[in-house]
Amino acid sequence: MYSNLAYFNKPAIRLARRGRLTAQEYIQGILEGDRILLSRAITLIESNLSSDSRLASDVMKGILSNSGKSIRIGITGVPGVGKSTFIEAFGLHLIEKGLKVAVLAIDPTSRKSGGSILGDKTRMETLSVHPRAYIRPTPSGETLGGVANKTRETMLFCEAAGFDVIIVETVGVGQSEIAVKDMTDFFLLLMLAGAGDELQGIKKGIMEMADALVINKADGDNKQPAKRAAREYENALHLFPPTYSFWYPKVSVCSALRNEGVNEVWETIDDFVQKSKQEGYFKQNRKTQNIRWFHSGLVERLRQQFYQDSEMKGEILRITQQLEQGNLSPVAEAEGLVNKFLKKD
Ligand code: GDP
Repeated sequence: MYSNLAYFNKPAIRLARRGRLTAQEYIQGILEGDRILLSRAITLIESNLSSDSRLASDVMKGILSNSGKSIRIGITGVPGVGKSTFIEAFGLHLIEKGLKVAVLAIDPTSRKSGGSILGDKTRMETLSVHPRAYIRPTPSGETLGGVANKTRETMLFCEAAGFDVIIVETVGVGQSEIAVKDMTDFFLLLMLAGAGDELQGIKKGIMEMADALVINKADGDNKQPAKRAAREYENALHLFPPTYSFWYPKVSVCSALRNEGVNEVWETIDDFVQKSKQEGYFKQNRKTQNIRWFHSGLVERLRQQFYQDSEMKGEILRITQQLEQGNLSPVAEAEGLVNKFLKKD
């Protein structure tokens, strides 16, 4: 392990103190595993300035061949289920095994609250300061699609910086699970015993997406109910049509707080990854995800260009005001405006 002093003596860090860097400097910094330059490069991804986006995409071109080597894990569960406690224990377990761990987040609620599920510094106290871990709060964005694209790019930067496992966390309340499932190799659902599916806000569709289901807080008086719930969920999962020929979703119990059953979750993931590689699914899934990523990138880019266009901004304002008077057809206006945008030089 490096000492902090040696770390700060790296040439890239000295460069980082100066103003804007070149794409090559960012690329070199990321490939050297320089966390400060990694963070600054991620800030470029998150920026809405077109000059930053251009620089970020030049950096992306330079690091792309060094990305893709991690295991990408999605974790979801309702607030309070123990996600951050679990990720802390799980991440430290991986670090003990010699791996480097990055934790990213997609938080659809952060726009409303102005905060973030990973913004709270008290979460993952030990992991967040560990030199072999990197925790990045959710990027702010206008749409889930926009945030998801930024998180995907961040994931690639982290991989190029040498992180072996990327955890993408989200709250179990809706569309963001699909976005996370779409960018990861393994999807883990954390649940509680005795809370009832309704109360946990977990939809059947999310349970169907899970590659493993873990009942957390299996400690003290809750241990037996957790085991019972695990059996019930196992039976319920058997009613769903299987997603893979080589894998049935695993159900287990754990206590993130007491660090019990956490390493078994890693064994499950490792088993899944090995089997899905043997079956050729791992690569195929990543290719499919890349194609979807391309399409969502296209939609996002078009949306941005349209909404940032000053003439369109004026037109949108005018039409909105007229719609309030109730004398226009929304669909016809949308079509007309898109046609007008496409005919612009
Ligand atoms: P999150 O909102 O899903 O990230 O949940 P947190 O990790 O913040 O945990 C919510 C609360 O549950 C905290 O008070 C934790 O200490 C507690 N908690 C988390 N995991 C466990 C566990 O395994 N057992 C028990 N008894 N409490 C836990």
